[in-house]
Amino acid sequence: MVKDKLNEIRSQLPAHVALVAVSKTHPPEMVQEAYDAGQRLFGENKVQELLQKQPLLPPDIEWHLIGHLQTNKVRYIAPFISLVHSVDSLKLLAEIDKQALRNNRVISCLLQLHIAQEETKFGFSFSEAQDILLQKKYEAFRHVNVCGLMGMASFTGDEQQVRNEFAGLKKFYDKMKEKCPFLNILSMGMSSDYKLAIAEGSNMVRIGSSIFGLRERVG
Ligand SMILES: *Cc1c(COP(=O)(O)O)cnc(C)c1O
Repeated sequence: MVKDKLNEIRSQLPAHVALVAVSKTHPPEMVQEAYDAGQRLFGENKVQELLQKQPLLPPDIEWHLIGHLQTNKVRYIAPFISLVHSVDSLKLLAEIDKQALRNNRVISCLLQLHIAQEETKFGFSFSEAQDILLQKKYEAFRHVNVCGLMGMASFTGDEQQVRNEFAGLKKFYDKMKEKCPFLNILSMGMSSDYKLAIAEGSNMVRIGSSIFGLRERVG
């Protein structure tokens, strides 16, 4: 089941688009099924749930934290996390830096941009992210590698709006990349909108329910 869905999604992704399988709310057995089908990037949005699953699964999985991250929880994931998609404050970036140093690591991070209409979605505004990148505020943090941007579109059936939000983030990414060529990841697109996201320039999609089925919990 998981294998078939995974292969179906993969067959639709251009070669330059990385697939993060979002396993939140689903048991380790299902993660293992996807792993056995060759999947290596997995995304979770809650630290506690990630900490429960990670030790039960193969060590070469690359775990991505995709949900809002509280500074006081960074230390638990710092030993192993491979990419944090959801950096939404300099305070959080500072804490990731501190905990990465403690673990003798460099942790890769994406700046999350607020591109949706909804108030509830976390992230920097374009001007805040621009300040961090163009004023090189990330340079103070030697143990984080800011390597891209992430955004979530509005939860709406209005396809044009979703498209516009993704296109706006892609435009910003391209503009920043001229000054900051180390930006290589543009994480946008979920089950409902990944095709639009790819059409607008995403190179990393985060897909949960289309691989693992519906969740009871939201978010
Ligand atoms: C849950 C989640 C996803 C995946 O959502 P699906 O609709 O199940 O594909 C992607 N990104 C983030 C940040 C999420 O929290």
